Amino acid sequence: SGQFVSGATTGFSSNKSNPFFIVGAPELSETANIEAIQICNINSDDITTQIWFELVKKINDLAKREDVAGFVITHGTDIMEETAYFLNLTVKTAKPVIVTGAMRPPTAIDADGNANLSLAVRTAASQDAYGKGVLVAFAGKVIPARHVQKYSADSLDAITTNGSDTPSRHTLKSEFDISKIKELPKVSIIYFHAEADAELLEFAAKRSEGIVIAGAGAGEFSLEFADVINNLEIPVVISTRTNSGNIHPEHLICKDTISALTLPPAKAAVLLRLALCVTTDRAELARIFWEY
Ligand code: GLU
Repeated sequence: SGQFVSGATTGFSSNKSNPFFIVGAPELSETANIEAIQICNINSDDITTQIWFELVKKINDLAKREDVAGFVITHGTDIMEETAYFLNLTVKTAKPVIVTGAMRPPTAIDADGNANLSLAVRTAASQDAYGKGVLVAFAGKVIPARHVQKYSADSLDAITTNGSDTPSRHTLKSEFDISKIKELPKVSIIYFHAEADAELLEFAAKRSEGIVIAGAGAGEFSLEFADVINNLEIPVVISTRTNSGNIHPEHLICKDTISALTLPPAKAAVLLRLALCVTTDRAELARIFWEY
């Protein structure tokens, strides 16, 4: 049996008497016994820490039930990679947790929701997904949360992998425990571009406990940006606006900054927020970015 936990989604149509009977995918009930729970029904751009916490607690509770084999989370595609990575770092179960969604509404001729949902349910019910951390099932692919990336505003296979296969700690081996925290510290991402305004960075730093720089290329930025970064007291993590490739720590422009390695900016911010609950020590933060 599986749990079908619904978060933000727009891509599935259900019938009125049973909102969790998926019109167009009746065979799902032959793949698994599905129980459905709705955590929220929002645009995923409106996701909050409180919703993430609620989702994690629900999964952790249900995972204790012997008759629950795995979980499927339906989610809007915009913030899917952040929720999937957050769950990967915080759920305490080896049972499959699969995130899925859709790029088209159910009425579209090329609607993809049912196929993605079907892949997600089959993956959640599979032994092969056990112990693999949180996975995203989308457009025929099953992708580890650490590597998933929405790379297109409209393509049917917009949710894909950023090409990195770095191993990482997750779920039962993760040190992050949200049962002991009430809020995540605020982290801001600053995007570098030609003649980017370094005052925006200073402003963001005053309102944040950590900064992620979406640098150009291999995590680079102007001399003006470097000056500001060198004077910041809060931790600064360097990622790349290319969303791909590795930031080599030995090539960091500013000392005392931390490389996001292969994590793109949005997911680097998720990890930094959790990491700041544990430490502000730069060496410890760098260790965390290596391990997760
Ligand atoms: N803004 C929507 C969301 O991420 C995108 C449509 C969708 O993927 O459901 O919630």
